[in-house]
Amino acid sequence: MNASLTLTGIGMTSQRTRARMVERLRAQGIQNESVLAAMAAIPRHIFVEEALAPRAYEDTALPMGSQTISQPYIVARMLEILCENHKGGGKKTLEIGAGCGYQTALLGYLGYDVYAVERIRPLLLRARGNLAQIPKIKTHLKHADGNLGWPDAAPFDRIIVAAAALAVPQELLRQLAMNGILLLPVGGDEQYLCRIQRTPQGFSETRLESVRFVPLLTGVE
Ligand code: SAH
Repeated sequence: MNASLTLTGIGMTSQRTRARMVERLRAQGIQNESVLAAMAAIPRHIFVEEALAPRAYEDTALPMGSQTISQPYIVARMLEILCENHKGGGKKTLEIGAGCGYQTALLGYLGYDVYAVERIRPLLLRARGNLAQIPKIKTHLKHADGNLGWPDAAPFDRIIVAAAALAVPQELLRQLAMNGILLLPVGGDEQYLCRIQRTPQGFSETRLESVRFVPLLTGVE
């Protein structure tokens, strides 16, 4: 973890509300201390639209152009699942649906080497600007259709998808390293979180809780 991150210029008020958000996440069942520390360190308000900054630490999804910035609980939950059972494995991670970069920043803080893809160009540009304000985090960003993964940078130890796929994109399975984990919401009206691990015997799939995400679309805009 990047424990030396200093958040110069971030007011005490936001630090206090962030601490309250972390206590709420704990009460909601998030136990991974590294994830909670990352949520305490990364200022969510710089990632939301200015008018919504006062609501940045509420446990709610917020509008971000035509898309939404995910609810803190589900971001924390997915990161907790992603961090489980690392057993010294690599940390090269592909993130699909970077949006304005909030989860990208958390992944970077947690020490992942993040390759983040977003299909909407203005959002990707916003993510780039937002992430530049977070010291000591290095990420790679690309404007592309995440269904295709990031072939030049593959294989990945972790792949995390922030939009719901009707079916698991085969290209993402192909770009998963041995013992790597793909975490993605699957479904349409009814969605569940799906954790797929690549093992020497093949892909092992676990269905987790019900979730609600925007759809994984194809192409770029
Ligand atoms: N990770 C963001 C959540 C963004 S919402 C956060 O931290 O809040 C989901 C994002 O997935 C949207 O920005 C949407 O544009 C993007 N998306 C949907 N389909 C995609 C695709 N095929 N490739 C890349 N991004 C996609």
